[in-house]
Amino acid sequence: MKLIDIVVPCYNEEEVLPLFIEETNKVIATIPDYDFRYIFINDGSKDKTLFVLRELAAKYSNAKYISFSRNFGKESAMYAGLEHSTGDYVIVMDADLQHPPAMFPQMIEGVEEGYDCCALYRAKQKGENPIRQMISKMFFGFQNKISDVKMPDGAVDYRIMSRQMVDSIISLCEKQRFSKGLFCWVGYQTKWIEYQNVERTVGTTKWSFWSLFKYALDGITSFSVTPLRFIAVLGFVISALAFIWIIITLIQTLIMGIDVPGYVTTLCAVLFMGGIIEMSVGVLGEYIGRIYIESKDRPIYIAKETNLDDDK
Ligand code: UDP
Ligand code: MG
Repeated sequence: MKLIDIVVPCYNEEEVLPLFIEETNKVIATIPDYDFRYIFINDGSKDKTLFVLRELAAKYSNAKYISFSRNFGKESAMYAGLEHSTGDYVIVMDADLQHPPAMFPQMIEGVEEGYDCCALYRAKQKGENPIRQMISKMFFGFQNKISDVKMPDGAVDYRIMSRQMVDSIISLCEKQRFSKGLFCWVGYQTKWIEYQNVERTVGTTKWSFWSLFKYALDGITSFSVTPLRFIAVLGFVISALAFIWIIITLIQTLIMGIDVPGYVTTLCAVLFMGGIIEMSVGVLGEYIGRIYIESKDRPIYIAKETNLDDDK
């Protein structure tokens, strides 16, 4: 029988985990043609997630877990799960039941049809925060425009992948991972299916506005150097305009003599250029910061405890 690994990153999910496994087991019971194995990753939770995982592991023989030494972030957790998976297929999903396990049969059908991957995107919904929705739309639009990875608006990290695709993803060893992009970057045939997003019933979202902003920045800088080109072009355009202005002023001075006024124009030019230079240095800094972090070559995560080797 084919094995499907279910990779689930968990950060402070003590309340929802028992419910999650119960719900998921119900769905699994309807798919007898496959073996399923859970790989939970405790991403340095501050609550009792690890205790809950140990209990679940004792109760269900197919529940495995890896526990990190601290919080490394969802991206690192997903990487650890993929790296330890051995299944013919691997499912990645959230622990909070916002990714309904009821989609499993459709997803498996997708990969059995011959696709390497079957991924989900959120259907448009009325109840959602309109500002968040707009920012998300802008992000996907911008990301698709400036980089060579394309993904539909509302793409989430809920998908099933073939062994081959998973191996390709873990062969990309960058430290600052932006999985949504990496999943697209490796290529392969992806079937996109729509699902209805579910409100988180238990626990709270781990994303603040600031962390989402940083995430979006990661997405853009790790897949595109367009911002760097943009500042180069901007510099060129401004220089060209300045050159024309210099010629005009020179001619004016030659014809009409020296005319002292010009305080406001000078001030505007200096402040404007100051702003542009600050911005350009900032963009450079974003990229240099990323080079700095990559060059340290630190591990993507540190695992403190796991029960994955117990059966060996
Ligand atoms: N998560 C994680 N590490 C973190 C933050 C989140 O492993 O530092 C997990 C979390 O437990 C959940 C998934 O990532 O399973 C998605 O998080 P959340 O539900 O907070 O995000 P949202 O659904 O609001 O995008
Ligand atoms: Mg969630």
